[in-house]
Amino acid sequence: MDRNLKIGVVGLGLIGGSIFKALCALGCDVYGVSRSNPTIEQAKKYSPHISKSLLQLKKCDVIFVCTPMNKTKGILDKLDKILPKSAIVADVASIKGFVCDKVRPYKFVPTHPMAGTENSGFENSYELLFQGAKWVLVPCPKGNAKAPDIKKLTDIICALGAKPVCTTAEEHDEAVALISHMPMLIAQALFLSAKDNSLAMKLASSGFRDMTRLALSNDEMATDMISLNPQYIQKALLKLYSSVGDLLDKDYPKKIREIKKERQAMYVSGQNIL
Ligand code: NAP
Repeated sequence: MDRNLKIGVVGLGLIGGSIFKALCALGCDVYGVSRSNPTIEQAKKYSPHISKSLLQLKKCDVIFVCTPMNKTKGILDKLDKILPKSAIVADVASIKGFVCDKVRPYKFVPTHPMAGTENSGFENSYELLFQGAKWVLVPCPKGNAKAPDIKKLTDIICALGAKPVCTTAEEHDEAVALISHMPMLIAQALFLSAKDNSLAMKLASSGFRDMTRLALSNDEMATDMISLNPQYIQKALLKLYSSVGDLLDKDYPKKIREIKKERQAMYVSGQNIL
């Protein structure tokens, strides 16, 4: 990674704060943009270039937009009028289709780091968040970013400890509906289904805790996921109903033995992080 790059981060929450802290730890020249005074005060302990204004990003070579999804397009539109054509901009939104609708004047690369926790805000961000995580890139076929720009970005992603994976926005949104958005919705619905049964609530232990962890997701992000990816979430739910039918149809013991084997293999040999 080129250590002479000036790198901007807009939105110093869990994801933006973690990118910011990791880049500061790597000795990079990092420019942070946040709205809130407490975050600005905390971030100034890491870098002198912290501001409420997007204008300071004019001098940056690479910018990560890490605001909530419902704010992302508004920020990208504002950057349209501020940044030079040479700037490389990556957003980190958990859904990719909705940011790919427009060709930007700068070199825009939609991305999504596959790392996170149920917590939010700068105080919960940490520099090692992306170690070993996949980081999806969705280069826009009609966009201005060329191979050397993507390479510059992937070098930064690798320096953050993540592993770049390239795909399309549609494939990404379908996949994350299956592994992230639908599981979150099910965790919430599962809790809702059981919560009125007082004995169930009294007896609930580690299995229920593990199955409902995603119900603790950041409210704003959860609401954005449901409103911005409805078609693939619906498709995933239909697939789930049909999988329940297939499972219970016949040979249940054989099918769950196969599932157990494949699920166990998934988190070994460094293929998926634990
Ligand atoms: P977060 O912790 O709530 O952080 C969002 C940050 O955006 C806040 O610090 C907020 O700053 C800032 N912000 C909001 N509006 C802004 C504006 N107009 N200008 C500048 N900053 C603004 O949320 P997060 O979990 O980091 O999520 C951020 C993005 O990452 C989302 O697009 C999400 O889809 C994506 N993502 C999240 C995860 C995850 O697991 N959490 C994983 C992968 C990707 P103030 O505090 O100053 O208001």
